[in-house]
Amino acid sequence: EDLTIATLGSHTSLHILHGAKMEGFKTTVVCEKGREVPYQRFRVADEFIIVDEFKEIADDDVQEKLREMNSIIIPHGSFVAYAGLDRIENDFYVPMYGNRNILRWESERELERRLMKKAGIRIPYRYDDPEKIDRPVMVKFPGARGGRGYFVAATPEEFHEKIDLMIEREWITEDEISDAHIEEYVAGTNFCIQYFYSPLKDEVEILGMDSRYESNIDGLVRIPAKDQLDINLQPSYVITGNHQVAMRESLLPQAFEIGDRMADAAKELVPPGLNGPFCLQTMCTDNLELVTFEMSARSDGGTNTFMDGSTYSYLLYGEGMSMGRRAALEIKNAKNKGLLEEIIT
Ligand code: ATP
Repeated sequence: EDLTIATLGSHTSLHILHGAKMEGFKTTVVCEKGREVPYQRFRVADEFIIVDEFKEIADDDVQEKLREMNSIIIPHGSFVAYAGLDRIENDFYVPMYGNRNILRWESERELERRLMKKAGIRIPYRYDDPEKIDRPVMVKFPGARGGRGYFVAATPEEFHEKIDLMIEREWITEDEISDAHIEEYVAGTNFCIQYFYSPLKDEVEILGMDSRYESNIDGLVRIPAKDQLDINLQPSYVITGNHQVAMRESLLPQAFEIGDRMADAAKELVPPGLNGPFCLQTMCTDNLELVTFEMSARSDGGTNTFMDGSTYSYLLYGEGMSMGRRAALEIKNAKNKGLLEEIIT
């Protein structure tokens, strides 16, 4: 039977769909009206399911159409956001590539930390009380704020000053102060490591690496320090793009080690584990230590930096291996070996 690879038209769907075509699959994109242009113009989708709003991907009639096409859904960040975790876990009846049950673990900070702690990898120290702040910290609030309203502080006084400013600007309410997540500010350089775990090979591959391009912080640093003080702009960390990056070669053993550890921990805590694409967002300190502050358990935005292959995917697969194509290759291999059940949930 012919399989169709399907996903929501957003986020990292271009290389998911393109990669599926490269591996010989039919492709379907579920797309919000008005957003179909890239999928038409880049010719990555054979079929279009056009909906009024992205969230309709979880509606019964859309699910029905996807099942009729014999689809496997490949999840990504926007798919998770629009379909919603509850529906994905409880009433989304289209087979999904990877482990649908681990998606909650990357979305909820407590679960995410539990998984990273289980793996025993270095993560930022967390403060349970603002009065204990004794070094630079980064303060985050839950929900999809996209880094807007994150701030840094170094003392309890500075914390309260900045909280007051956020309340004044109506970015948060008084009630939300206690939701503040306060963690060690890790001074360093950003590496988002794009991994792929194959249960068929029982191996974690590094397929790419990127760093983030964030607004307004990456623009702010173009202003001389004196002017920064004069204009008193508040920094924000809203992701607007990614750059491909090559890591100092002597750091690669660490990059493999933290990826392997996460894959092992996930197998134990959330079976079947981190099947497919996952990403660890790290800061590398000047002691050359990778500190992981965030993870993705599905196709991460940074994979868009290597639709034509990366420095690292080249070493394993030669030219042209994107993350989307790697997922499609895994599905093809599993199908040929009669092991599809092992890689979908
Ligand atoms: P995502 O969409 O990646 O989940 P988010 O809005 O949850 O983003 P984070 O990824 O947690 O935000 O952080 C946004 C940015 O803030 C990071 O890319 C990084 O530049 C910076 N950052 C986050 N945590 C730390 C930290 N502990 N130390 C230093 N910088 C940090």
